Amino acid sequence: MLNVLKVRIYPNKEQEAALVKNFGCVRFVWNHYLNKTNTQYQETGKGLSYCDMAKDLTQLKKLSNYDWLAEATAATLQQSLKKLESAFKNFFSHRAKFPKFKSKHHKQSIRYPESCSIKGDSLKLPKVGIVKAKLTRPIEGKIKSVTVSKTSTEKYFASILFEQSGLPALKQGKISGIDLGLNSLVTVFDGKTGCKVDPIKPTRKYAKRLKRRQQALSRKKKGSNNRRKAIKSVAKVHEKISNTRQDFLHKLSRKLCDDNQVIVAENLNIKGLARTKLAKSIHDAGFGMLLNFMGYKLDREGGKLIEVDRYFPSSKLCSNCGVKNTSLNLSIRDWICSNSSCNAYHDRDENAARNLRAEGIRILSNTVGHTEFQACGETVRLVSASTKQ
Ligand SMILES: [Zn+2]
Repeated sequence: MLNVLKVRIYPNKEQEAALVKNFGCVRFVWNHYLNKTNTQYQETGKGLSYCDMAKDLTQLKKLSNYDWLAEATAATLQQSLKKLESAFKNFFSHRAKFPKFKSKHHKQSIRYPESCSIKGDSLKLPKVGIVKAKLTRPIEGKIKSVTVSKTSTEKYFASILFEQSGLPALKQGKISGIDLGLNSLVTVFDGKTGCKVDPIKPTRKYAKRLKRRQQALSRKKKGSNNRRKAIKSVAKVHEKISNTRQDFLHKLSRKLCDDNQVIVAENLNIKGLARTKLAKSIHDAGFGMLLNFMGYKLDREGGKLIEVDRYFPSSKLCSNCGVKNTSLNLSIRDWICSNSSCNAYHDRDENAARNLRAEGIRILSNTVGHTEFQACGETVRLVSASTKQ
């Protein structure tokens, strides 16, 4: 099982210089072959493949004006060409926009496909040496690749892709249904009790600071040094906003994964929702990110995230008797079931969480599997195959 750990690294002056040089070479190679592919395509109607580019690069490095390319790790240059080839493939199959030229003022990154290792609490990179790293977890297993990046606010990170040895031990815990919303970010029902977590609104929190810095930026002359500084200070606020959101969602997903073996949530159409009036709030709340974090954390620890089809009427069904309340709209926060033999009182979000939990248990029970789950008396089975419906 492959696993990724992203950590901050702290190169010293010398190492930073080596990395900056390598970033520059990779950027040059990308831009050079993007240009070359464009020209060749215009002339012959055919682009360059990775093999064409790699052969050409070997020749290019022999020329005296380009010998500085040898200062970069050769494998990182080849990785850049592979990335360029797939960028073109994605463009031609309509999956992505046309590849762009890279600028030194934006985020930089290089990928080492080999020869990286962990030395104590540091990371060893080819031609750079042993770089201090903030390893948040031990890495046990073979390192497949390391991507080093530098943000526009001059911080360095390494994404370490590694093979996790052995299967994760089976988790113990509850099954919970989770309703995602803008009033309460999550409403959890674990079979016995419900609880709610308020959303965070980092964009709103930093709105004033962002506006002030954007206004300052708009007053700076184009191309000036002060403008460059102002751009960086705006980027810092954006970074702060996204870090606040990520940090909160990591902690929340950690708590939910520690408490549960299986989490059942709605499979939201995040992209569809992002085109609506609520787009900003939804992005700010980080629904997609939360689902993603819970998914991989549970996976890694032998648990499971079940995503229930978004057409499942989780809000409208009475979780007590199953009668559908068709008059329920978004503004109704609580309601009483109209079925005279039920008359259950519902908090809208908790009712949805109850329904999602029940639906998740139904999905688990219907799948033929090997692993038994004990969830508050209900025995269900879990399979490794997808239980998405
Ligand atoms: Zn009812």
